[in-house]
Amino acid sequence: MNMSKKLYLETFGCQMNVSDSKKIVALMKGIGYQQTADPVEADLVLLNTCSIRATAEQRVYGHLGRFKSMKKKKPALIIGVGGCVAQQEGERLLQKAPFVNLVFGTHNLHLLQKMVSGAEQGKQSVATDFLDDEKRFDLFPHAESEGGVSRFVTVMQGCDNFCAYCIVPHVRGREISRNAAKVVEEVAALAAAGVTEVTLLGQNVNSYGFKEAGAPDFADLLRMVAQVEGIERLRFTTSHPKDISPRLIACFAEIPKLAPHIHLPAQSGSDAVLEKMNRGYTRADYLAKVRALREACPEIQFTGDMIVGFPGEDAASFEATMELIEEVQYADLFSFIYSARPGTKAAEFPDEVKRAEKQARLERLQAAQKKITLARNESFVGSVQQVLVEGPSSSGDSLFGRTGGNRGTVMDGDPALAGRLVRVRITEGVQTLLKGEILHV
Ligand code: SAM
Ligand code: SF4
Repeated sequence: MNMSKKLYLETFGCQMNVSDSKKIVALMKGIGYQQTADPVEADLVLLNTCSIRATAEQRVYGHLGRFKSMKKKKPALIIGVGGCVAQQEGERLLQKAPFVNLVFGTHNLHLLQKMVSGAEQGKQSVATDFLDDEKRFDLFPHAESEGGVSRFVTVMQGCDNFCAYCIVPHVRGREISRNAAKVVEEVAALAAAGVTEVTLLGQNVNSYGFKEAGAPDFADLLRMVAQVEGIERLRFTTSHPKDISPRLIACFAEIPKLAPHIHLPAQSGSDAVLEKMNRGYTRADYLAKVRALREACPEIQFTGDMIVGFPGEDAASFEATMELIEEVQYADLFSFIYSARPGTKAAEFPDEVKRAEKQARLERLQAAQKKITLARNESFVGSVQQVLVEGPSSSGDSLFGRTGGNRGTVMDGDPALAGRLVRVRITEGVQTLLKGEILHV
């Protein structure tokens, strides 16, 4: 096949989009497009978009403006928009940006080859139908053969939780779990291509299999995937605290390949706010799960997400969040100012907290977390960690890898160690990573 056509792909947002983008690259390869990092070379520009916060959405329109100017100089340039903004906007996106050739929603990747081929013939198209059928996971080839050290494997899509602030259920549709045998098949194919670590991916992996009586649940799925030969480390994301079961907690004690890390977003430390957010747990429930996880796996590292300035968050509620982060001692925390999203429940709530106050709360939270992260990183000094080497570090003169607890680690060593688990003595903990030396290979 003539591979002279060039694809420039930009990905915004979460790991689900990153994972979809991998599929997009494989699909476009199938119709003769080679990926390029230089937009000027591109015959096809695809934006895989995010609408989780208003700023993410605005960024997409900013980028589209750039490609509009490029298209003036190169009229044959095909521009496509996919992902969550595409799903939300559909036809409206073509009205706002008529130079766009195709709009593909979150369930429509399997149509992308046809849509791009149509655009090559001058056709404009929009596809945003939801496909609430498990078959959609396997409607197109996966990129198993591409190898790499660590890969994501989608085990479920969509979300039924309807947290009051969140656009995801609106743009990703209802929750659907992928057949367990298909997941294992994909993991085995990745292992055969040399992949060492897989991360099972979904908006709320803990409710995997809940909808089908007698189907494997997430704990069963983890045990099945852990048996795949060649896979040495297993991760998953994202977890919803309300669906963490004792069976799942036991996996951390019983599956040696399961990395001692969990991303467990609390979103707030205040019961009143959690209730308004429709999260389905209290602060005490959350802390009980944290304790149970630590009992099952004392070295487990927690990361999380927190929203500040949710409607009704008063000073006392915010203090409850500050206390929660001190209590949990997250290794890392992603924190955001609440952003009202169209169509969500919370968008109708009166929002009395002033923007400057929200900003001040975010800064306080982030400053406190920064100290916790540094102290935790320093606490690893002298310990020996299993690090999976991913490749050269960003500076190029050492190696980069991750501990089981998901702490980025740099160390000297042979680049041929990429994909290997090595024992590393940690010599320094700084704000963003650990430094160490490989003990023996
Ligand atoms: N399903 C995952 C979960 O439940 O944690 C991830 C959801 S989202 C992709 C990632 C994070 O974005 C959320 O955990 C939340 O903290 C944040 N987020 C979602 N909607 C938001 C909003 N409207 N404003 C601010 N932050 C938001
Ligand atoms: Fe959004 Fe809540 Fe679903 Fe996560 S669990 S994707 S925050 S609705």
